[in-house]
Amino acid sequence: MTRDFLEAACVECPRGCRLSVRRSGGELTVSGAACPRGEAWGRRELLMPARVLTGTVRTTSRDMPRLPVRTREAIPLDTLLEAARALSSIVAAGPLVPGDTVVEDFNGLGVPLVATAALPPDSPP
Ligand code: SF4
Repeated sequence: MTRDFLEAACVECPRGCRLSVRRSGGELTVSGAACPRGEAWGRRELLMPARVLTGTVRTTSRDMPRLPVRTREAIPLDTLLEAARALSSIVAAGPLVPGDTVVEDFNGLGVPLVATAALPPDSPP
């Protein structure tokens, strides 16, 4: 879906500037941004919105049955729901430290899924 106008709160920092982004005649204008980072975010948000997915996956550990994870980068907004569903088919095994890759190419998106917490190795039965 192509949009020509967007009003949104910038999510790049806690200040949450209220942005208006308008496309007219091939030109993009962003107003309300207090810094260039927010201006860039506004442009991306109109042209190709994306979000980092966070969630949890199952593990092989009896002591820690769920592991918090996130995509290393933002993924297209329209893939978010399907990607969230795909988390249920993933099982992580330790040892992992925060930032370790759990799935290299998560759901065919070309983005790794990484641990955001440590997962100790499985304890012996
Ligand atoms: S525009 Fe800049 S200052 Fe405002 S919320 Fe975005 S990043 Fe923060």
